[in-house]
Amino acid sequence: MATIQYLTTIEFGAGVSTQLPVVLAELGIRRPLWVTDRGIVDAGLLDRVSATLAEPVDRDTVFDATPPNPTEAAVHAAQQRYKAAGCDGIVALGGGSPIDLAKGVALMATHDGPLARWAGMAALGSIGPCAPIVAVPTTAGTGSEVGRGALLCLADGRKLVFVSPHLLPKRALCDPVLTVGMPAAMTAGTGMDALAHCVETYLSPRFNPPADAIALDGAARAWRWLAHAVRHPADLAARAEMMVAGLHGGLAFQKGLGAVHALSHPLGALTAPTLHHGTVNAVLLPHVLRFNAGHVGDKFARLQAAFGLDAGADLADAFTALNLRIGMPASLAAMGVPAAVRGRVVAGALADHSLPTNPRPLDAAALGHLFDSGMQ
Ligand SMILES: [Zn+2]
Repeated sequence: MATIQYLTTIEFGAGVSTQLPVVLAELGIRRPLWVTDRGIVDAGLLDRVSATLAEPVDRDTVFDATPPNPTEAAVHAAQQRYKAAGCDGIVALGGGSPIDLAKGVALMATHDGPLARWAGMAALGSIGPCAPIVAVPTTAGTGSEVGRGALLCLADGRKLVFVSPHLLPKRALCDPVLTVGMPAAMTAGTGMDALAHCVETYLSPRFNPPADAIALDGAARAWRWLAHAVRHPADLAARAEMMVAGLHGGLAFQKGLGAVHALSHPLGALTAPTLHHGTVNAVLLPHVLRFNAGHVGDKFARLQAAFGLDAGADLADAFTALNLRIGMPASLAAMGVPAAVRGRVVAGALADHSLPTNPRPLDAAALGHLFDSGMQ
């Protein structure tokens, strides 16, 4: 017996972000809060997407201070703006960080604080209707535009998940044209997040064949197109393929992720250095694959076939080679992670919601070993 749930309305294709006014009208949103970040504004994407509206955007309805790993403080600051400006919905424009932050704002617009009260899988059933979100992703990787969860860093330093079907954006406008100007390192890092979502979801031992099929297809697309998208940033076909891969990850990962994400969440909660989520995942993936080998049935063979690798190829080595090809850092140490955070990262991973669905059971010693491997 299994309960399997799927998800929201997605508009996909080049130029689809111009449908924003229609979508807002359909949802009855008259004065959205724009949740985005400075990089998106500086890249001209806020102006570009908002130019489709009948009137220019009132700057009082723009929150562009989303941190790379969204924080409780940012949720409260954006929520105050939502309230002060009399907003009735949210347009989340950006990568996973603005979209996750928008979910925090949508939650706190209709629920009383503190934020921590609504954290974790245990709160899933108590979260009621939230402010409506239209997600317009500008990266291809997070999947948050079609996910019911958000990861937010609390003031006490923990990075926790907030999950509810009410947090799912009412619409996702997936326009690959918006990703064309993404720099190579960001294309690579976000693309590896998509790949990590698909691979970890596929390897999760839970029974969910629809999620497995979506994850396997997403992994194959990312494997085929990521390096090409990094090398040929203006190739719209490659951008669209990567956006599908990101979408597939987000559609599938409610099946559960694994050790890569269990470790990357506490690493993402560090305030120094500030780490890019997908890039951390890229570094950890080969080590976690090596650790999980022998606990995944025939799934490595099926991934190898989907990637077009020889049957005898080593999957973990193939991921290391891909990382090298797309310019990912060689280790956590190379990203500036100090060895001193080991205990904190292991403790965070042990408590993380992604841990129970890693195919091979993990304890503190195993997580410490994976951290050490990732550092080298
Ligand atoms: Zn991720």
